[in-house]
Amino acid sequence: MRFIIGRTNGEFKMRNILLCPTGRRCDRLAKDAGCVNDANLTWHDQANRRHAESEVKEPPVNSTRPYSAVLLFGCPGSGKGTQGVVLGAMPNLVHLAMGDIFRALDKTSEIGKEFLSYSTKGLLVPDELTVRVFRQHVDGLATAGRVDPAYHTLLLDGIPRTPKQVELLRDVIDVKRVVYLMIEDRDALIARLMKRAAKSSRPDDADRSVIENRILVYERETHPVLDAYPKKLIARVNADQPPLGVLRDVADALLGCVSAKI
Ligand code: ADP
Repeated sequence: MRFIIGRTNGEFKMRNILLCPTGRRCDRLAKDAGCVNDANLTWHDQANRRHAESEVKEPPVNSTRPYSAVLLFGCPGSGKGTQGVVLGAMPNLVHLAMGDIFRALDKTSEIGKEFLSYSTKGLLVPDELTVRVFRQHVDGLATAGRVDPAYHTLLLDGIPRTPKQVELLRDVIDVKRVVYLMIEDRDALIARLMKRAAKSSRPDDADRSVIENRILVYERETHPVLDAYPKKLIARVNADQPPLGVLRDVADALLGCVSAKI
């Protein structure tokens, strides 16, 4: 017979609980009974010792975690979204942009309002909330059959964005490659973001000071994410070139780390 005896971090701790011939349930550990060797143990104590030793951790709710992932990394406006959308059309890749996941939230909901209170100032949403929203989203896709962890690689754009998020996602994603889209020309970058603001209705791209703040936040809080991964996982790509050239170099960096099956 198996009973759930506790729940930690979404994992169920289970223990086999046996009934002795008298029908009593074994619920004391052998050491608590003060026994020094097996010969001195009662039937209950021996059973309890076995139970303690055989205590198993059940797999997490989604037993197929961690998800294989490739990170598209770079400052705001470095082209992560453009590359992600194109590459996400490949059958084996699923593009997930954290900013899009946030923007799809109901803006009148508590979380939706909280997101806007940060993004409109060019600030990052707190780590725990971000990771919670991300996990719910990706687990929802897996439950709906839109992500098959045995086949798909997640192409993550904008997450993890702080070393703390790397830590919180340690058991959720298995990072196979970090593609670092490098932009050297800061003025061209700001011009690019202002142009994007004119085309889209993104309040966080609305004015120059907010854009400059986002770049500062990137340098201070996001750039250190690179130090959290082994150097051999990081592929540097020059993002100061036409999108097709970037695409060629990103595709090159991904060869060999995503499923070869179509
Ligand atoms: P960009 O790539 O241009 O910076 P995004 O669309 O990725 O913009 O993100 C928009 C906003 O969403 C960010 O400014 C931030 O407020 C929030 N956001 C997105 N991803 C994260 C994240 N991983 N952690 C915290 N906040 C995030």
